[in-house]
Amino acid sequence: MPSIILDSELLYWRLFSSLIVFQTFYNWFQCCRKYVNKALKREEDADKSENVGWRLCHICQYYAPPRSFHCKICKACILRQDHHCFFAAGCIGQFTTFYFVTLCLWLMIGQLVVLYCTFLYVKAEALSWFSLFPPTSLWVSLTGSQPWFNFLFVVMATCAVLNLAICTFYLLMSTYAATDNVTFHEGSKGIKTFNRGSVVANVRAAWGCYYWIRWLLPFYAAPDSNGYDWKVRRHLD
Ligand SMILES: [Zn+2]
Ligand SMILES: [Zn+2]
Repeated sequence: MPSIILDSELLYWRLFSSLIVFQTFYNWFQCCRKYVNKALKREEDADKSENVGWRLCHICQYYAPPRSFHCKICKACILRQDHHCFFAAGCIGQFTTFYFVTLCLWLMIGQLVVLYCTFLYVKAEALSWFSLFPPTSLWVSLTGSQPWFNFLFVVMATCAVLNLAICTFYLLMSTYAATDNVTFHEGSKGIKTFNRGSVVANVRAAWGCYYWIRWLLPFYAAPDSNGYDWKVRRHLD
């Protein structure tokens, strides 16, 4: 295998790769902390049935706060439920939305690095277009025309393209939802009760404060709601 990265650049590539791996696992781990999303079934919540927006979940048989949604897979009402994420094995909700967005972003960066390295490798090896697709690459590997390593590289690059498409889709959808401060369910039903009146205020409410730097520096910032009590426009005007 030819060296596709210059020795003088090796240190920077190692540091950058370490950052991508750290950010990916850190944000994924935070997304998996699904227990903090559950609409807790406290005794004192019983009288919340009188409060605006609280409703009885007929599956849980408990009162659930506004913006929560019952997930049949998690078997619980989830605070500000956005969607169930199979990759995180839980729901993305009030305390995990921004970690999910950041995870998508760093996964995208990681896939782009993989594709860039693939491009360098294809250039260095002068591979033909015919051998860049999994079926044809498998065929030329079986016939002994290329080393098996090339086939593994093509499979890895194909997975990177698919992952890149999925992460880009979720990142764009989540960003679009944040500009209106809506969840997936609220967006699909046209509910704009929690719109703060401007894109900046909506994104801040959806992702928490310091979101413009927290995608890079993983420090904690408390969201502006505990997931039970929500500000609506009439409270803000
Ligand atoms: Zn429920
Ligand atoms: Zn769920």
